[in-house]
Amino acid sequence: MSKPQSDHERRKQISVRGIAEVGDVNEIKKTFNRHLHYTLVKDRNVATTRDYYFALAHTVKDHLVSRWIRTQQYYYEKDPKRVYYLSLEFYMGRSLTNTMINLGIESPCDEALYQIGLDMEELEDYEEDAGLGNGGLGRLAACFLDSMATLGMAAYGYGIRYEYGIFAQKIINGEQQEEPDDWLRFGNPWEKARPEYMIPINFYGKVEETGTGKKWVNTQVVFALPYDNPIPGYQNNVVNTLRLWSAKSPIDFNLKFFNDGDYIQAVLDRNLAENISRVLYPNDNFFEGKELRLKQEYFMCAATLQDIIRRFKSSKFGSRDSVRTDFKLFPDKVAIQLNDTHPAMAIPELMRILVDLESLSWDEAWDITVKTCAYTNHTILPEALERWSVTMLDNILPRHLEIIYHINHLHMQQVSQRWPDDMDRMRRMSLIEEDGEKKVNMAYLSIIGSHAVNGVARIHSEIIKKDLFKDFYELSPEKFQNKTNGITPRRWLLLCNPGLNDLISDKIGEKWITHLDELAQLKQFAKDADFQQSVMKVKQENKLKLAQYIENYYNVKINLSSIFDIQVKRIHEYKRQLMNCLHIITMYNRIKKDPNGQFVPRTVMIGGKAAPGYHIAKKIIKLICAVGNLINNDPIVGDKLKVIFLENYRVTLAEKIIPAADLSEQISTAGTEASGTGNMKFQLNGALTIGTLDGANVEMAEEMGRENIFIFGMTVEEVEELSKKGYNAYDYYNKNEELRQVIDQIQNGFFSPDNHDEFKDIANILLNHDRFYLLADYEAYIEMQEKVNETYQDSSKWLEMAIHNIASSGKFSSDRTITEYGKDIWDIEPTYEKLPEPHVPREIALKEN
Ligand SMILES: *Cc1c(COP(=O)(O)O)cnc(C)c1O
Repeated sequence: MSKPQSDHERRKQISVRGIAEVGDVNEIKKTFNRHLHYTLVKDRNVATTRDYYFALAHTVKDHLVSRWIRTQQYYYEKDPKRVYYLSLEFYMGRSLTNTMINLGIESPCDEALYQIGLDMEELEDYEEDAGLGNGGLGRLAACFLDSMATLGMAAYGYGIRYEYGIFAQKIINGEQQEEPDDWLRFGNPWEKARPEYMIPINFYGKVEETGTGKKWVNTQVVFALPYDNPIPGYQNNVVNTLRLWSAKSPIDFNLKFFNDGDYIQAVLDRNLAENISRVLYPNDNFFEGKELRLKQEYFMCAATLQDIIRRFKSSKFGSRDSVRTDFKLFPDKVAIQLNDTHPAMAIPELMRILVDLESLSWDEAWDITVKTCAYTNHTILPEALERWSVTMLDNILPRHLEIIYHINHLHMQQVSQRWPDDMDRMRRMSLIEEDGEKKVNMAYLSIIGSHAVNGVARIHSEIIKKDLFKDFYELSPEKFQNKTNGITPRRWLLLCNPGLNDLISDKIGEKWITHLDELAQLKQFAKDADFQQSVMKVKQENKLKLAQYIENYYNVKINLSSIFDIQVKRIHEYKRQLMNCLHIITMYNRIKKDPNGQFVPRTVMIGGKAAPGYHIAKKIIKLICAVGNLINNDPIVGDKLKVIFLENYRVTLAEKIIPAADLSEQISTAGTEASGTGNMKFQLNGALTIGTLDGANVEMAEEMGRENIFIFGMTVEEVEELSKKGYNAYDYYNKNEELRQVIDQIQNGFFSPDNHDEFKDIANILLNHDRFYLLADYEAYIEMQEKVNETYQDSSKWLEMAIHNIASSGKFSSDRTITEYGKDIWDIEPTYEKLPEPHVPREIALKEN
């Protein structure tokens, strides 16, 4: 096995293509040394590798700032329509390498550090992930920011600067333990605090009649302190802004105590208000209904809307000269995209601002709100849909509850005009759910308050229309759209897979980086033996690197010629990691039954976090670890099969794992995974997919052709049919002997000799309460895995399929997704414009922020 090429050697090769110039390298060395001295206050005798990371990060940031200022100036001068992407999650991962790549300074930075005697790759590993997200929804927001900057859109991300992001997962004795993610401990070199733009946010209080309208009074105030994060486009000198809000106590917070003389207590209580931005809720696809979470959602929306309106009012071509701002122009200048219903309070908040503060009529305000807002649905799972308690809303946001009631009143009038005397439809379509505790359905509020509603893959958008939002589709069919998700090719190929990136660029040039459809040119080489060998070599190098990481980290020896079979994503019953586990146990039983039989060797890797309160998800992790422990230490099994649970799956680990995958597991029950984006990352990196006809898998299969993907299992229609007929897991359990053995082993403690009851609840769910029909798809899954083995043995066939996968991934660029949002929802064209090179500081920055 050849040693993988070092990062420095590779970056040197890039420099041969003409990027690292001596002048640049010397300049970077100077700046790096200056930061080590003046910013970090260290000399080379005491500096740690972390200090070197920070010195490099500051050096790279210096290259951003002129572009950042110039971009914002340019937006102020040109006053284009702005897009505001509102999200409670931005799962950004690391910034250093991405920034160097997008700025085109990776090669000179590497050369400069090499000359100083440092290894850039080692430094990169000191950066903490910005883990301000749970999974796909948060990562989508991050990919979208990259695409919007690359397409030259005047876009802003708005979210919360959580002090603690997604918890760090530790596997201890085969169980998940959570550790707080103290990601800001050593400081964040990328962000810039902007205390001068702090904004007051109100909570609690009551509503007063003023004679002319309503007023929200006697509120408690918390300040929102903005932190700006640069979002560089790909080599176009555009730097957009991600503005994250942090909660800050007002100076007079709890002054009552102060007056009573308890000064110390008053100071201590200031922390209470600042809890709002303390921690990310670690639920993926699950609604918890906690008061602090409602405060987070409103806090983000209220701060963001004040910012949006301030920027609108101060715009050069806005009506700042006229006494009264003309809000009729607002929807022509502002588009607000709601990433799920988490920021849905933006709708009543915008209404409150326009009606109560700006004195517009209700109808004018509503027209503006609907034209401005658009809503993306991310899931149809009922347990994930937000339904806030009316009592809680009345307490925390009394004026907003009134507004929601009035929105609902007018909405109900519209429904009853359209369908007179259809009381059942009225009840179904009310924003206020009356069965049991009264609740506000935030998805319905979002649909009513938006001009566009979209699902995130074709199949998902159809289900929304036919099922979840059927009544609303009948009311306003013109609102409903599809925007199939995508991923940024910069992070998910250029950055994470240098070997494949070089190979592709040598073959077809570099245009694919911003026009991913160009990859289609690779189809002509799918059967080319030399190209196949090059693709194989890159994959083997990536596998070797991952194997070394795993051997160091887990002390398990990996067979490099085994199929690297990978399922990484949040642990959730609907994603069916358990079905993967049933396959693993089936393989194990087959090997034990026939120790001398021919088996195609596999290394199965599963990774992902379980929500801390999701008992079954945590049990699934425990089962995978227990099964792995037994299999990995069984000499009869040897290197035919290994099972690794990958600890602490996150963006940075995804970047290491995905380029090394042979097989991507995308096996959710048809109709449950809205889109998936992990599936696209694997395809782009040349893994083959075993998957169901769910989410974006459907469109992936269509793009590459069914002959290039391992599709198995029930379709949505078949799932529906089975559900109607009544699913009985025992039908499958009784018929299939291998399946029965596997379930029995889980049931009777075969994998948990110290506690025979350990996995009884898992077996019980599978047999008696399984909402996701694992046993119904088991046989088809096992058969398709056999087909995978057979195909893998024909390496030329496998490589041909892998090349077809890569060549067909053009559609799944987030650049395509964002272009469609721009065209069909925001009325914004991508410019692909390259801003002029910034010549370092001129006089003083003009007005804009
Ligand atoms: C892409 C990504 C996800 C989403 O994966 P799915 O398989 O689509 O659920 C989750 N977590 C991380 C860290 C990711 O990079």
